[in-house]
Amino acid sequence: MNREQSFLFLSRMDKYLQQIDRALEMIEVGTYGICRVCGKEIDEARLKAVPTTRICFTCKQNEAKAAR
Ligand SMILES: [Zn+2]
Repeated sequence: MNREQSFLFLSRMDKYLQQIDRALEMIEVGTYGICRVCGKEIDEARLKAVPTTRICFTCKQNEAKAAR
């Protein structure tokens, strides 16, 4: 790996670790698995696929639509 590649790799790792940190925080305060947009429980299958997610599939789709 050259310098630039390792920098990119590390900054990506850092982001990932931040997301895990946040997920752990949510577990502590009991909001893990709750969508931050609509407040509903996030589908278990989705949580397993993306453990650091903070919004449910429906809201994710809405966001993607809004971003377009
Ligand atoms: Zn939602």
